[in-house]
Amino acid sequence: MSETSVGLPAAVDVVVVGAGIVGLSHALEAHERGASVLVLERDDRPVGASVRNFGHISVTAQAGDARRAAERARTRWIEVAGHAGFDLLECGTVVVARAVEELAVLEEFADGRADSVELLSGSEVRCRAGVGDPAVLGGAFFPLDLRVDPRVTAPSIASWLETRGVRFGWSTNVLAVDSGMVRTNRGAVEAHSIVLAVNHDLDRFAPELAVSVGLRRCELEMLRVTGPVPANPDGPAVLTGSSLLRYDGFASCPSLGALRDRVRRERPELLEHVVNLMLTHRPDGSIQLGDTHVYAATLDPFPPESLAELLLDEASTLLGTDELAVQERWRGVYASTDEPFVVAAPAPGVLAVTVGSGIGMSTALGLAAETIERVL
Ligand SMILES: Cc1cc2nc3c(=O)[nH]c(=O)nc-3n(C[C@H](O)[C@H](O)[C@H](O)COP(=O)(O)OP(=O)(O)OC[C@H]3O[C@@H](n4cnc5c(N)ncnc54)[C@H](O)[C@@H]3O)c2cc1C
Repeated sequence: MSETSVGLPAAVDVVVVGAGIVGLSHALEAHERGASVLVLERDDRPVGASVRNFGHISVTAQAGDARRAAERARTRWIEVAGHAGFDLLECGTVVVARAVEELAVLEEFADGRADSVELLSGSEVRCRAGVGDPAVLGGAFFPLDLRVDPRVTAPSIASWLETRGVRFGWSTNVLAVDSGMVRTNRGAVEAHSIVLAVNHDLDRFAPELAVSVGLRRCELEMLRVTGPVPANPDGPAVLTGSSLLRYDGFASCPSLGALRDRVRRERPELLEHVVNLMLTHRPDGSIQLGDTHVYAATLDPFPPESLAELLLDEASTLLGTDELAVQERWRGVYASTDEPFVVAAPAPGVLAVTVGSGIGMSTALGLAAETIERVL
């Protein structure tokens, strides 16, 4: 394979732009179908949404196409973790219900899903989720859901793909893509097919497409905390009543309207800041928790501290302690679009793939298996 003066291959079958989970999933699928693949990433390692999330592979709470992709992704995650050598926990998810409306939604959701939803009593929830709020009434367990440590997962997949012959151009900013050609700050590469997996930056490459799919940036506030709560590094992901308002899987539950009305009446700030109180445990025993959502084409650079305080207060109530110490705080951004997935060809031979609803860890590995057929 001939190379450019900076060591990039001069021509490949497939260039993937972006080394987040969406780009890596497409690189894997293209490589497995025998294509020569080059991944171009502007940073020297993955630092986007794919390392800033909860690492929650949420299969059960998805609906429609996202559910199908998540089910397929679940199988892929288990295979890939084995090859790439990162820990994958088949730990499931516990949903905590602290209001009768939340319990009602979970009971409706569980109806007819004995294989994927198990209703829990209040004491079972407290024990499995390690939450101390006396208001806990009950909840549900989703055994199919998985967890990974997002800080190591994308780098591990990239390293593994590299050992299998996928080329990576790190610190390479892609300036423009067109049919058959990718222009970067380190020279040009010819490619039969190009996958644009640049998350919210789709609007930098394909502004008209971005407008047509309603693309905005969605910024989430996240905290990592320690405190006097039992360490449970292998424990389930924990969702709460606010999560029921966010995931599409619950959308058809008849009691969802009553739950939304109650939150609007009693806790309007949770709706105003689009809070989805959830947490996952980290390998060191600390807890990462989130999240709030702010939507804009261009995000305000100065989000108020009150968002982090709101999260901390909510988590303190849930965990039953006011002694949580914040160890890290960060923000992550994902693309928000009208539909969960954007899969479109802005030019012949160029496929833009964006997960537009904050479920990329759950779905990308399944989605790529479908979309790659359009690329090759
Ligand atoms: C705080 C937070 C929590 C979340 N929690 C979950 C969760 O628990 N479960 C779940 O399923 N989903 C979750 N999500 C959503 C999930 O993280 C995203 O859907 C997913 O990571 C998107 O993957 P991506 O590859 O598109 O984006 P990214 O990981 O952001 O990757 C895009 C890459 O493209 C690169 N790039 C952009 N422009 C260029 C260019 N010009 N040249 C070269 N490279 C470029 C960027 O540098 C970046 O590395 C969460 C998201 C956030 C922000």
